[in-house]
Amino acid sequence: MIEHIHSQKMRAFCSRALENAEMTEVAEHLAACPKCRRLFPEVFHEMNDHQPVSLNLSPELLFRHEHLDFDQLVSLADDNIDDEDREIVDIHLRACERCREDVRSFLEFRRQIESAINIIPAAGQPVKWAERISGWLYRLKRN
Ligand SMILES: [Zn+2]
Ligand SMILES: [Zn+2]
Repeated sequence: MIEHIHSQKMRAFCSRALENAEMTEVAEHLAACPKCRRLFPEVFHEMNDHQPVSLNLSPELLFRHEHLDFDQLVSLADDNIDDEDREIVDIHLRACERCREDVRSFLEFRRQIESAINIIPAAGQPVKWAERISGWLYRLKRN
């Protein structure tokens, strides 16, 4: 049985008054528990009553383990990603240098492939770039 987060603890979480281990615990619970996730913005807004709401660390904490997978990279590169996914991906990218670098390398690599295709249009076989990138990305992840 999961122990839900009391609003007092949530308040401490929002003001980052908890120990690191507890911050992580709460963030992980929030990531897994829709009920507490609904409580979080309420408490957060209540606490920031007289201040403009700015993005605090918490969403990044929530999504910090959500590394981009290959499908998301492709969707992002193709600008073919739905709004909810994009939001999560954007939040994660702000927090995760590794994935930012992945996206950058991916776009760069794709640009190279695309310009190669443009320069040699009569090469016969169309380049199956998704397959090639997949192999490339696999190597990258193992480094
Ligand atoms: Zn809960
Ligand atoms: Zn990441």
